[in-house]
Amino acid sequence: MKHYMPTRLITGSDSISQSAALLSALGERCLVVTGKSSAKKCGALDDVTAALDAQGVAWTVYDGVCQNPTVDSCAEGGAAAREFGADFLVGVGGGSPLDATKAISVLAANPGLSEADLYAGRWPNGPKPYVLVGTTAGTGSEVTAISVLTGADGRKRGLKSERLYAALSFGDAKYTMTLPRAFTLSTGVDALSHCIESYFSRKADALTRAFAARGARLLVPALAEAADAEDAADLSPALRARLYDASILGGLAINTTGTTVPHNVGYYLTEQYHVAHGTACGVFQPALLAHMKRAVPETAAAFYAETCTDEDALLTVLRRALPPLDIRMTEEELAGQMPRWENSPQVANALGDFTPAQIREMLTELFVK
Ligand code: NAP
Ligand code: FE
Repeated sequence: MKHYMPTRLITGSDSISQSAALLSALGERCLVVTGKSSAKKCGALDDVTAALDAQGVAWTVYDGVCQNPTVDSCAEGGAAAREFGADFLVGVGGGSPLDATKAISVLAANPGLSEADLYAGRWPNGPKPYVLVGTTAGTGSEVTAISVLTGADGRKRGLKSERLYAALSFGDAKYTMTLPRAFTLSTGVDALSHCIESYFSRKADALTRAFAARGARLLVPALAEAADAEDAADLSPALRARLYDASILGGLAINTTGTTVPHNVGYYLTEQYHVAHGTACGVFQPALLAHMKRAVPETAAAFYAETCTDEDALLTVLRRALPPLDIRMTEEELAGQMPRWENSPQVANALGDFTPAQIREMLTELFVK
């Protein structure tokens, strides 16, 4: 198994201001990439721009990244980077702005690159260097060479390349304090989904399982506590730190193993029914866990032992953290979607041969009424 994660990750409180000098080493002009408003609200944007100012780096902000970023919006960000003459980028936000920053860094250096060439890694020029500042505790994008983008056909697909690592990532859980309850739970369930899918991936080994099991071990009680709170403002900095650490552990795990069936099928729920990413993946974890218990019982037993939890506790946490979904699918709709699961490497990456027919059964049970 190949392990490669060359990003310098700096964690802890006030890490940006303490390491500002590392930013000026990347260049003199910087495009800061964010979503609509949360980067400002959580304080991360102000910390980044103060650090850039302190280092004499000129900057401008591109704030056009939406949830589930499109390739088109990344091309727009690439044009903004060129127009400003940016030497490097800083992405601030949840997985959407972080993943968009990765693609923008490629598109900034390769004007006119087609979507097909972007996904295929056919980039004549290497990406601009970039820095990532996470503000959700979910995707682990800070430490992955993965960018999940929505293409012109409306489909979400992952882009993976060894050239997609951040030069530098900052992980300061204080930025997640402003995350509302619903996103705290859905992003936490995304992190838990990464840990579960990675543990039961064909590419898992002792190292990735150590990351995945440790992440799940932190997440099960932390998500239970978060689900108990009526208001996210009641969540303590210590709990936020545990959720954030676990999201990085999940990122380190999937960076090597990739994700499996729930992520692949979850993309469909997000595309078609606009379900938040973590929820869309989390809703399929019970079916994945049931399959693993049948197909690879020893691995399933090791998973519960290493994560210090049991099936009941895990299923209870998922049930409490996931919102009810009012989705109705038809048999015809499912039949039409089958080809996307028939040759999917992400589906084939699950242990124990999770078949497309099982995916259809899983969706029927959940959503065909
Ligand atoms: P997100 O889409 O980045 O953000 C969700 C919402 O939370 C947005 O409304 C955002 O506001 C808001 N928000 C973010 N941080 C906040 C904060 N600190 N305080 C208040 N609000 C905040 O959510 P995400 O779950 O982190 O990312 C999901 C994306 O990542 C999906 O596209 C998914 O496919 C991808 N993903 C990537 C990887 C990977 O390895 N690269 C892994 C899993 C998932 P703004 O719009 O104002 O920013
Ligand atoms: Fe995910």
